[in-house]
Amino acid sequence: MKVLKFGGTSVANAENISKVISILEREAKKNKIAVVVSALGGNTDLLIEAGELATKKNNDYLKVFQHISKRHQEAVQQLIKGPKKRTVLKQIDGKLEALKQILQGVYLINEFSDKTRDKIVSFGELLSSYIISEALQQTVKKSTLKDSREIIVTDSVHTNANVKSKETTTAISKFFKSNKDKIVVLPGFVSRDKEGNTTTLGRGGSDYTAALIAAAVKASVLEIWTDVSGMYTANPKLVKQAFSIAQISYQEAMELSHFGAKVLYPPTVQPALQKNIPIYIKNTFDPEAEGTLITKKPKSKNGPVKGISHIENIALLTLEGNGMIGVPGFSKRLFSALSRSKINVVLITQASSEHSICVGVYSKDAKMAKAVVDKEFAYEISLKKIKPLLVEAGLAVIAVVGDNMKSHQGISGRMFRSLGQNNVNVRAIAQGASERNISAVIAHKDIKKALVTLHNTFFEKQIKTLNLFIVGVGNVGAILLNQIKQQQAYLNENLLLNIKVVGISNSKKMIFNEDGIDLTTWSEKIKKGKPRTHQTFFKAVKDFNLSNSIFIDVTANEDVAKTYRDYLKESISVIACNKIACSSKYSDYLELKELSRKYNASFLFETNVGAGLPVIYTLNNLINSGDKITSIQAVLSGSLNFIFNNFNEKTSFYDVVKQAQEEGYTEPDPRIDLSGVDVARKILILAREAGFKMDLKHITNDSFLPKDSLKAKSVADFYKTLKTYASHFEAIYASAKENDCQLKYVAEFNNGKAKVGLKEVNSTHPFYNLQGKDNIVLFYTTRYPEQPLIIKGAGAGAEVTASGLFADIITLGRN
Ligand code: ADP
Ligand code: ASP
Ligand code: MG
Repeated sequence: MKVLKFGGTSVANAENISKVISILEREAKKNKIAVVVSALGGNTDLLIEAGELATKKNNDYLKVFQHISKRHQEAVQQLIKGPKKRTVLKQIDGKLEALKQILQGVYLINEFSDKTRDKIVSFGELLSSYIISEALQQTVKKSTLKDSREIIVTDSVHTNANVKSKETTTAISKFFKSNKDKIVVLPGFVSRDKEGNTTTLGRGGSDYTAALIAAAVKASVLEIWTDVSGMYTANPKLVKQAFSIAQISYQEAMELSHFGAKVLYPPTVQPALQKNIPIYIKNTFDPEAEGTLITKKPKSKNGPVKGISHIENIALLTLEGNGMIGVPGFSKRLFSALSRSKINVVLITQASSEHSICVGVYSKDAKMAKAVVDKEFAYEISLKKIKPLLVEAGLAVIAVVGDNMKSHQGISGRMFRSLGQNNVNVRAIAQGASERNISAVIAHKDIKKALVTLHNTFFEKQIKTLNLFIVGVGNVGAILLNQIKQQQAYLNENLLLNIKVVGISNSKKMIFNEDGIDLTTWSEKIKKGKPRTHQTFFKAVKDFNLSNSIFIDVTANEDVAKTYRDYLKESISVIACNKIACSSKYSDYLELKELSRKYNASFLFETNVGAGLPVIYTLNNLINSGDKITSIQAVLSGSLNFIFNNFNEKTSFYDVVKQAQEEGYTEPDPRIDLSGVDVARKILILAREAGFKMDLKHITNDSFLPKDSLKAKSVADFYKTLKTYASHFEAIYASAKENDCQLKYVAEFNNGKAKVGLKEVNSTHPFYNLQGKDNIVLFYTTRYPEQPLIIKGAGAGAEVTASGLFADIITLGRN
């Protein structure tokens, strides 16, 4: 004989019930079966809601009742054919009338005891099993309905009754021995006490009903049919990468379900385990899917960790005080006090100093726990031997489970390292003596991030997801998005990096998509995006709370640069082509570097110098490997190089600058390039990265611009001065030509001092032949004293800047 249980979603409506019926018709050809069913999905909650409204004298309970009635009547209308329909509808209406009368009673006497609650919720399963059994009768004649309350006997602890196993086993086996039907349909969840009052087995208890029947009749298998294809490595509704576990042991299943894997009601495993009955978890909506097989000795290909689960709404109670050290009996008194008030302890940890004990309980019990524990220890508290119980709410427990964890070193190390790296703060840790479970108490807001992170660590080692939030989608930003789009598949395949753009913002609007924004249509979508400010964007990024989040600044905006510290403090990495942060006050630069270290978030800005050229990367490698910089000679402005390479007697200075701006070689405001400020910022950043404490004011800047150009109030005014002072620029050009020199805007750093300015360089100089918009950097170091280390190549332009940003993203992903 087989026992099959169908959950709430599986029997939520006529359409789903038809699916259940076809599964049953197929099964009935092979085996005798017992079918345990839940209430129509969501009905138990509705019944409780109706009762609670009634007891508050809120007439809306009638609306809820109407809704419940309608769902059942509709199911009958659609499932039952012919003249039988009327009879069944009449029966249903009779039962609904009885329910209504009880609700009216609750309304009148203003009382909703646990006993009444059980009576009311039992209607859910009693109605659903009746309808399903009648529907099944139409095709499987030899099928019948049996009220589980006649065969499952419990104590009188209403809403969560304890099964009297002897009586129950006897009653179940007696019934099935005498029954000759092919299929017996039974309501799950409901039972009775010795006096014949209706009791229930706890929320989710239909699984348990099925297990009790399976154990009593020694079924060949217990099948739990639900809305997912098995027990997953983590709750599939929260972790998209989770997958169904093919085989798992009873203990592992029990541990996962105790720690929140709702797919199986925790007490279900015990009866099956005792009789060694295999449990299958199957999907009603995908019957062909393999599902999960739970047995004593599962065959497993996977690693030592089998699954990750979590429990929400946890409060942590801490009892501490010097008076506890070395004095036996404190824990016993604490646990007795909790147990007398029927408070369930979810997790226990005790510091080895014995100075404190920490227990996790459900939040709903925290208030009562505080009262009873403070009462129990009132005397010691009055003597200040211990402190009043400390209660922290808003927490959750996350557990990593697997039978073979004990024979593998370092699982907890990996678990806590990956939580730490993603800024998930761990409040308490408990490791069961069986070493089948390591649990951590974390903040409620971190649940999803913690699950995804741990899932990534233990089940998806291969692929790392980076979640990008990009601000600034002008020239460079748009090209970066395009480059990402083109490389996504390659990076996934070759570097095992999954690059996901979750947020995009321009100066006015922002858009988000946790699954990754479609990079073909983003420019259309952003037009209809939400209005943004720096703060709303930051808040959104923070609230997503995704692991490996990266904020990417592709603006030249000072206010954006000021937000980096907020991101770093949330352990969100920052990648910037914006130079402002690294070239502002030294103390600000230092603070960002320190925050990056403290919060374990990268801060990368390779494109600040030389666009895509690996200038900072090379410098960092020199310093990190123990070299010392003595001098840097460089042409660091692709824009100025472009301008002076194209400026001659035939083209006016004005035209060349205009062209450079139009082709994207200058900053949006060309004054920043031409005044030398941009180059000064770059040499400053290199000096700082080389270990020198320096500020912009320490850099000598001899400008080649006339005073009026430097004073221009707007970009338009600035351009005007370029026309007015055309002869000034022609003279600069003529002088260089006469001396057989090229004009180069050079940045120099020597022994702690830096300067920038326009220079005439002759044909023997390495800068003489620098083409187009190229940059060149010469590093003179202890290891390269005479022949410098040279980096040369295109140092400006949107393509190379975008690819420099991209390189930073990849560097970060491979860390
Ligand atoms: P039923 O109504 O069939 O009894 P439940 O809602 O009680 O179904 O349980 C199934 C649900 O359990 C799934 O839809 C899923 O959201 C949740 N769940 C939580 N953890 C897990 C897990 N590790 N594997 C599968 N499902 C899980
Ligand atoms: N209907 C009950 C509940 O929702 C029992 C069950 O479905 O298992 O908790
Ligand atoms: Mg369930």
